[in-house]
Amino acid sequence: MTLSGQAGGQAEAQALPGWRDSVAFAADVFEQLRAQTKGEDGIQRPSYGAGEDAAHALMGRLGISLGMEHSIDDAGNLHLTLAGAQREQDRWITGSHLDAVPDGGNFDGAAGVVAGLAVVHALRAAGRTLQRDLTVIGFRAEEGSSWFRGQHKSHFGSRALLGQLGAAEMREALSVVDGRTLWEHIERAGFRPDRIKTGLTHLQTARVHAFVELHIEQGPLLVDSGIPVGIVKGIRGTLRGRNCRTLGEYAHSGAVPRESRHDALFATAELAVALENEWERWLADQRDSVCTMGRFSTDPKRHSLTKVPGEVQFSIDFRTLEAPLLNEARTFLVDAATQISARRGVAIELGSLDISPPSLMDTRLQARLRECANALDIPAVMMASGAGHDAANFSEAGVPTAMIFVRNDHGSHNPHEAMDMADFSLGTRVLAEFLMSPSPW
Ligand SMILES: [Zn+2]
Repeated sequence: MTLSGQAGGQAEAQALPGWRDSVAFAADVFEQLRAQTKGEDGIQRPSYGAGEDAAHALMGRLGISLGMEHSIDDAGNLHLTLAGAQREQDRWITGSHLDAVPDGGNFDGAAGVVAGLAVVHALRAAGRTLQRDLTVIGFRAEEGSSWFRGQHKSHFGSRALLGQLGAAEMREALSVVDGRTLWEHIERAGFRPDRIKTGLTHLQTARVHAFVELHIEQGPLLVDSGIPVGIVKGIRGTLRGRNCRTLGEYAHSGAVPRESRHDALFATAELAVALENEWERWLADQRDSVCTMGRFSTDPKRHSLTKVPGEVQFSIDFRTLEAPLLNEARTFLVDAATQISARRGVAIELGSLDISPPSLMDTRLQARLRECANALDIPAVMMASGAGHDAANFSEAGVPTAMIFVRNDHGSHNPHEAMDMADFSLGTRVLAEFLMSPSPW
């Protein structure tokens, strides 16, 4: 995490009288959203479910009341467009998703859509027209991995829009609520899965000047550093071992000496420690990385206080902004597993270690966002996003993409997300400044 340039002051921030009213408008929208989608244990906005529908309907009504053009695509994404002075120019797009994980918080996703509407509210109040059209999108089903199981890549709404979602995937994703396919859910929500195809972009990506997504930060970096706004350098790529296991030999814990054992647990523990040590070396070399073994268990049906463990199941989730490090990490793991297996007489099976590359944000957009924050005297840091976002799909589709993070306490994906409206105001003001500034190219 690096602090943005401190030069500041060379650029004049643009006047936006009435900004406070626009922040009050946004606060009211968040309250309406909360009131309409609050469950017993948190916010309930399931992908292609009732709460998500309610959020889309609310944003749609507000967009229309702000004089925006309203349309809904075949996947149910909401598009609200504010006409620019030169409509033939490529458009800006901002926005985020309106669904939430089960018992989620009020701001994950929604903040990005409300930010877009707040900017439009402020532009209208100031009597300003942007050069180009601005479309605010409310995406469907970004949290699809919480609501649908099976082989799929989630982020269904934005991927459908960008031609990255095919029929097979829509039929393989099964609702965790009722077992029906995603295809059926899209259809029952009133949309057209039959018109969603891989390679068929419902959005003319070549006519998108840039996509900028505002989102709450889902980790503690901004809170810990006391800085309200983050400018995202990229979304980390992943190396994932979903179903790793170590096979050893069950044996009597009292009778069998060490040299005769094939202990699956100590072998896996050695791999875990080796991985953590290597991670520390990567960090010491300033290489962006996070590493997790989220599952690590003996078999509860066969393990016992008095048995040498014969099997351990575990998972590996390694993330970095640096594409080559994903391959290095894979090589490291395979080598370490081979050595430990040979020495201890066990079989560490890593299975397929799947790599999903990082999505880097456009450097010109990052620089411009930094300039905007400086002009407004808003402290901002450059940082990685550890979580996936709709923005990654835009970047993959070749659209110049950027993200703004807003400080948020208590993490995310829980009902205790806590974003101060003062911080929302700062992050959204940077977004407004960016959209009012001339294009970086
Ligand atoms: Zn989100």
